[in-house]
Amino acid sequence: LFDRFKKGLQKSRTSLVERLGNVFRSRKLDESVYEEMEEAFIAADMGVETAFALVEDVRALARKNKVENAEQLPELMVEAMSKMLSEQDSEMRFATDGPTLVLMVGVNGAGKTTTIGKLAHYYLTEGKRVLLAAADTFRAAAIEQLLAWGDRVDCDVIRHTQGADPAAVIFDAIQAGRARNADIILCDTAGRLQNKTHLMAELAKIHKVAARELPGSPHEVLLVIDGTTGQNGLNQAKVFKEVVDVSGIVVTKLDGTAKGGIVLPIVHEQGIPVKWIGLGEGMDDLQPFDATAFAEAVCK
Ligand code: GDP
Repeated sequence: LFDRFKKGLQKSRTSLVERLGNVFRSRKLDESVYEEMEEAFIAADMGVETAFALVEDVRALARKNKVENAEQLPELMVEAMSKMLSEQDSEMRFATDGPTLVLMVGVNGAGKTTTIGKLAHYYLTEGKRVLLAAADTFRAAAIEQLLAWGDRVDCDVIRHTQGADPAAVIFDAIQAGRARNADIILCDTAGRLQNKTHLMAELAKIHKVAARELPGSPHEVLLVIDGTTGQNGLNQAKVFKEVVDVSGIVVTKLDGTAKGGIVLPIVHEQGIPVKWIGLGEGMDDLQPFDATAFAEAVCK
């Protein structure tokens, strides 16, 4: 699994190595090394604030370990990055009793529906009973797409017609989940960030119904972000955090980007844990987030 993960992240990996390879090989540890490191971090889409903080962490580690040669920096870089990524807890939260309700939010095209399919497959493989809820009732295509995933992974989908009240879909999904002893209910939602007021009202209503019908829920609100959008993805995290209580992030499409660094400011600046990463379009292409494995894949 780790190899596949590394391969998936090859593009971001290569870019850090490419940019810093020469610096690490041939230089004494002076200020210019740290400057180039900071530039490489920014180029990998970590943003200025996080890039600066990370360089300071590496510098502190170098001082502590009395490192004098730049050759030893890659290891310190992994250590600092891994520590920064561990600031937030990446474990999924489950209900202590009854079904666990997971709301998926995010803009259209980020990979919400695909991630729901992959998550369903992941938990079904673990022997859990999974139910899907098509609460993105705005687009008929979204309902169709979730049904297709339901077919593919062999999982029931609770749905209404297009234009129906999303909260009513959640209501039905919870009743069905209870009746069928589901362990996990994965809910798709509409992602119209252009209309923030509407989105807020819709998610608030879903929340209200969920909390009433299944006390303690939603147990997770996972924001899905396209990892190829760089700093734009970071802005989406900010906006969604204002609208809804995001409990974790899924970064998708990390197989197709040199910008894997986006994960760091999400954790460090936004204070939201990354819980999963998407590394392809197939049902197996989802990995629980692992701080050390991720740091190693990005750095080494
Ligand atoms: P939604 O609108 O947020 O539900 O997004 P979709 O789930 O429909 O995904 C949009 C496109 O991104 C689809 O073509 C997916 O196959 C693709 N996609 C989703 N996740 C990944 C991923 O991790 N890697 C790659 N390469 N493509 C992905």
